[in-house]
Amino acid sequence: MQEIQFYTGESIPLELHKVRIVQKLDLVPVERRAEAIKEAGNNTFLLKNKDIFLDMLTDSGVNAMSDRQLAAMMIADDSYAGSATFTRLTDKLEEIFGTHYFLPAHQGRAAENILAMTFVEKGTIIPMNYHFTTTKAHITRLGGYVEELVIDEGTEITSTHPFKGNFDLTRLKKLFDEKGDRIPFVRIEAGTNLIGGQPLSLENIEAVSDITHSYGKLVVMDASLLQDNLYFIKTREEKARNLSVREITKRIADKMDIIYFSARKLGFARGGGLAMRDEKLYLKMRELVPMFEGFLTYGGMSVREMEAMAVGLEETMDMDVISQGPLFIKYMTDELLRLGVPVVTPAGGLGCHLDATRFIPHVRQEEYPAGALAAALYIAGGIRGMERGTISEQREEDGSEHLASVELLRLAVPRRVFTLSQIKYAVDRIKWLYDNRNLIGGLKFVEEPSSLRFFFGRLDPVSDWQQKLVEAFRKDFGDSL
Ligand SMILES: *Cc1c(COP(=O)(O)O)cnc(C)c1O
Repeated sequence: MQEIQFYTGESIPLELHKVRIVQKLDLVPVERRAEAIKEAGNNTFLLKNKDIFLDMLTDSGVNAMSDRQLAAMMIADDSYAGSATFTRLTDKLEEIFGTHYFLPAHQGRAAENILAMTFVEKGTIIPMNYHFTTTKAHITRLGGYVEELVIDEGTEITSTHPFKGNFDLTRLKKLFDEKGDRIPFVRIEAGTNLIGGQPLSLENIEAVSDITHSYGKLVVMDASLLQDNLYFIKTREEKARNLSVREITKRIADKMDIIYFSARKLGFARGGGLAMRDEKLYLKMRELVPMFEGFLTYGGMSVREMEAMAVGLEETMDMDVISQGPLFIKYMTDELLRLGVPVVTPAGGLGCHLDATRFIPHVRQEEYPAGALAAALYIAGGIRGMERGTISEQREEDGSEHLASVELLRLAVPRRVFTLSQIKYAVDRIKWLYDNRNLIGGLKFVEEPSSLRFFFGRLDPVSDWQQKLVEAFRKDFGDSL
C-alpha cells in the first residue's frame, strides 16, 4: 500500500496487490438486518455470516493470504516429528528475530498459558504497558497480578501522541524498587490491542528492556500486533527513518528474552508460539508443549498453517505489505474526523474505533452505549463491529455493574481483505448513523451468562428504537440497500 496523490488533489491509500481469489458477500435489506440483529440477541458475536456485509469484528485469523502463502501450503511436510516444515519456520524466525529456539503453540493464548505456568504463582506481579484479555486471564488464574504502566496519553481517547502504547519509565523503575522481588518478567505488548492498536516507540522498547535487565529480570514481547508497530516506528520515529523494517525488527528482537505471538495476526496465518535465544529458558518451558499443545514440531498447528506463517513472516518485512492495515485505518479515521464523527485518535493499527460515549451521549452507560452502537451500525449498513465497553466487563462480586472506563465500537480492518470502496461505504453509513444518532436507544440483558457474557449474552432494545432506525433509513435511501 502507498499513499498516492491524485491529479485532482485527493490523496488515497492505493493497493499494491491484486485480488486473485474472491468470496461472495451479501448485503441484505435493512428490514432483514433489523430481524437478524434481533435473532442474534443484539450481540454481534451471534450474527450469522450470511447476514453480514462487512465483517469488522476482528483481525484474528481473517487476514487474506498471499499467492506465495497458498503455494507454500502445498509443500507442507506432514511428518509427526522432525518435519521439514517446522525447520523452515524456525529458520525464518531465527533469520528475522535471531532466536534459535521456538516452542510452537496452537494460538497466542496457548503461548501465554505456557509463560504463565512457568513464571506465575500466587503474588507474582507482571508489569506491562497494557493488558490483553487472554494474557490477564492466564496470569490472574494462577494468583498473579497485572500492573499496567502505559503513559497517561495511552488511555486518553483523543490525543496526538504518536506512541500511546509507551511505558511510563518512571513508574516502571518505582515498581522495581518497591516490589522487584515479585516480578519475573516485564511484558511489552506491541501495537497495544485494547487501547486501539497503539504502538510503542523503538526508543521506549529499548529503554524498558535496559531498565528491566538492570534489575536482572526478563523482557518478554507479545508480538501479535508487531507488524503494525513496525510500520509506525518506521513512519513516525525520527531515529528509525533510515532503518529498514528488517533492521528495526532485529533491533527490537535483540532486546527481548522471549518473543511470543498469535500467528492469527502476525504472519497472516493461524497458530502461535514462543521464540528465544537462550537454551535454558527453552528447556524450562519445553515440556509444557507436548503436554498441552502437541509434539514439539507442530504444537497443535497444522503443517500447512506453519508453511503459510513462515512466508507471512517474510512478507511482514515488506513495508508495502504492513502498511495496508494502518493506511486504511488512517483513511477511515481521517474521513470520520472530517465528518465530525467521534473516533479514537491518532489512528492506530487493528481497526478504527468509534467513541460511543460521545456518539450517543444520551444513552446511559448502564444501557450499554457501545453495544447499542454496534447493533445500530449493523442495522444501518450490515457492518459487524465489536463492542469494547461495559458489556465486555464482568459484573462485580456483589452483582453490580462494572462500568468500563471507555465505551468503544471497534471496527477491525483485516489485512488485505477490504477494498477502498468498502471502507468508503462504511464511512458513509457511519456518518448517516451519526446524523440520526438521536434515534439510537440503549439495550438491556435478557440472558446474561455469569462469565464471558460478551460472547454469549442476549439483549433487547429498551424501546422500539430499532424500528424507528429502519424507517429513517428507508426514508433517506429509498429502495437502496
Ligand atoms: C489476539 C491476541 C492474543 C491472543 O492470541 P490468540 O491467537 O487469539 O489466542 C494475545 N495478545 C494480543 C496482543 C492479541 O492481539
